[in-house]
Order: sequence, then C-alpha cells, then structure tokens
Amino acid sequence: MVVQSMTNTDTVDVLKTAIQCAELARAGSELVRITVNTPEAAAAVPKILAHLHTMGVDVPLIGDFHYNGHRLLADHPECAQGLAKYRINPGNVGHGRKRDEQFAQMIEIACKYDKPVRIGVNWGSLDQDLLARIMDENASRAEPKDATEVMREAMVTSALESAAKAEELGLSGDRIILSCKVSGVQDLIAIYRELSRRSDYPLHLGLTEAGMGSKGIVASTAAMAVLLQEGIGDTIRVSLTPEPGGKRTQEVIVAQEMLQTLGLRAFTPMVAACPGCGRTTSTFFQELAHSIQEHVRSKMPQWRVEYDGVENMTLAIMGCIVNGPGESKHANIGISLPGTGEVPAAPVFEDGSKTVTLRGEHIAEEFTAIVDRYVARNYRRKFAT
Ligand code: SF4
Repeated sequence: MVVQSMTNTDTVDVLKTAIQCAELARAGSELVRITVNTPEAAAAVPKILAHLHTMGVDVPLIGDFHYNGHRLLADHPECAQGLAKYRINPGNVGHGRKRDEQFAQMIEIACKYDKPVRIGVNWGSLDQDLLARIMDENASRAEPKDATEVMREAMVTSALESAAKAEELGLSGDRIILSCKVSGVQDLIAIYRELSRRSDYPLHLGLTEAGMGSKGIVASTAAMAVLLQEGIGDTIRVSLTPEPGGKRTQEVIVAQEMLQTLGLRAFTPMVAACPGCGRTTSTFFQELAHSIQEHVRSKMPQWRVEYDGVENMTLAIMGCIVNGPGESKHANIGISLPGTGEVPAAPVFEDGSKTVTLRGEHIAEEFTAIVDRYVARNYRRKFAT
C-alpha cells in the first residue's frame, strides 16, 4: 500500500514545485503527482527532478496529462524519460477519432520509455461517447438499471476498455494501474469492488473532491477504509482541499494515519490520548499530547534512518487516574497526568511498568526526554558503529 500525493503549485515554477515535492516526500509521500499541462510545464519536469536530486530527494514523479499529453510527451523527451509514471484520463485525451490516436500515442511513448501508466477515470470528465453507448445499451434492457448504476458501470467500463486498448497497443498488463475517482462514498466503494472483481490490475484509491478539513478526512476514510479492509487498493491518495494557509502535507499524514490505524502499515509512532473531560480542567494535558505527537513526527526522518521498528512504538497521554495508568500500561510509554484535584504527580509507564513519577514545572520536557531515551534503548540501530 503506497501513499501518493499531488502538488498544487504551478509546475512551471520549478523551485516552488521542487520544494513542495520535497516537503511531500519528507512527510512520507512515496509518489508525487504533478500537473503537466503546457509545453512550459513539460520543460520544467527535468529541472524539477534536478532540483530534487540536489536536495537529496529521489521521490518518483507522476505526470498528470490531459488533452495535450500526447504532444507534450512527444515534444519533451526529457520529461517523458524523467517521469516515473504517466497518468492518463481516458475522458480527457481528445474527442472522436482523435481520442484513440492521442491515447495510442501516449501509450506508445510509455512503451518506448518503459513507463507504467495509470488510467485514471474521473466522473467529472467521463468519456461522453462511452457514457452514451452504455446508456443506450441500458435503455434496451428488459429491466434498465437506474442512473447511478449506469454511471458506475460507465466508469468501470471506461477504465477496463482503456486498459485493454493499452495492452493491445503493447503496454504490458503489469505496467497498468487503474483508478476511477468519484466524490460519493458509496459510489467509490461500489465501483472499486466491481473493478477489483473484474480485473487484476493494481488499483489507485482516492475519493475525488473530498473537501476541506474534517469533511474531507471523514469522507475519504469512510470510503477507503472499507475497500482497504477488503484488500482492495495498492496506492492511495487523500485529496484534501487545504484550509487557507494549511499545509499540503496534511493529505500525506491523513493517508498514513488511515493505513496505520487500520493496521496495514506503520509510519510514525501513534499517540493515544484520552478525550479529556470534567476531570481535566487545565489545558496542560492537551498541550502535552500535541507536543509529543509533533515531537515524534518531527523526529521520524532521523529515527527512520537510525532505528529499526520505531514506527511501531505506541504512546499514551492520559488526563487522569481513572483510565490513565491502565491505558498507559498498554502502550510502550505512557504518562498518566494528574486530573483536577488529584495529587500533582504523573507516573510514567514503560512496557507496562511504572518507571518514574514526574512532578513540577518540567513534566513535558522530562517526558519528551524519556521518550527519546526509550527509542535509543529499544530500537536497534541499523548502522551500529
Ligand atoms: S482518563 Fe480521566 S481525564 Fe481522560 S477522559 Fe477518562 S476520566 Fe476523563
């Protein structure tokens, strides 16, 4: 299960795009997609790759092509060579006879450079000829399906027929990835179940136009968790609309947390924290949970290199004595903070045993240092000297 993201910079702005690709990669994105929509954008691709190389970032870049992709790939061989994958939307490669020709040209270039292709259908740009054909076929049925089912069938058919065409043109089946993005949770689940039932191609999952903030996170998770639990999905992207001033990397963190909470992959130590209640009247407990979460996330790039398995570590930050000691004992490291009216002492538990009780003004700093020492002690160095 591979985490993917997409830039929202103008690809022509080489530096800005390279910086955002690097940020996404450092946050844990294992593939980054960039828009390639103009000759200038295509010309920028090798420069972006060169910048990334200088920054020590080797994340594979996927080119997102639409109407003029055939020309851009043909006219910019360094772009065609440098990209790790091409995303082609069969609904946006041209109309009528031109559509087949232009699709064929892109597939031929993919074969020439030995690049995988994601055939990415999107319901906002569904091939209208194909939709009309499926509607006609449906109308002639004894029991026609409803409009929702017809739309879902058209999405699946568009992906499968395009994949078959790509194979006929010489692209090997193991170089094809399919996606069918919609914005409705039930549509996404139904479509991917059908895609998975009818083909063996790897599938890229993502709810398109998921939205902003908690709405986008909840909708994406609700849809993808069902599919991931059924073993459907090979690459995933959480398409969040960033809040004004928000970070693009949030979509990477949400994707990682989705996979990690499902128990499918581990990326960063998970911090369990109780929700707080009337027993936690100060904000200290929330602040500590937040600062520890940020600490482990900021440490991960270094820890990942130095230690083995640290991403599986679990932490608990608990607000009072009711569930604090119990939950803390279940984690690798836990702290049970004093609730309102309790003795101002915070017992720390490591692997189920109480090791120290923290008091006073510097509980946060001391607990953070305990976490760092625990990591150094318990996760073997990869490159011991
Ligand atoms: S552990 Fe204590 S503070 Fe946290 S939710 Fe439970 S009762 Fe409230």
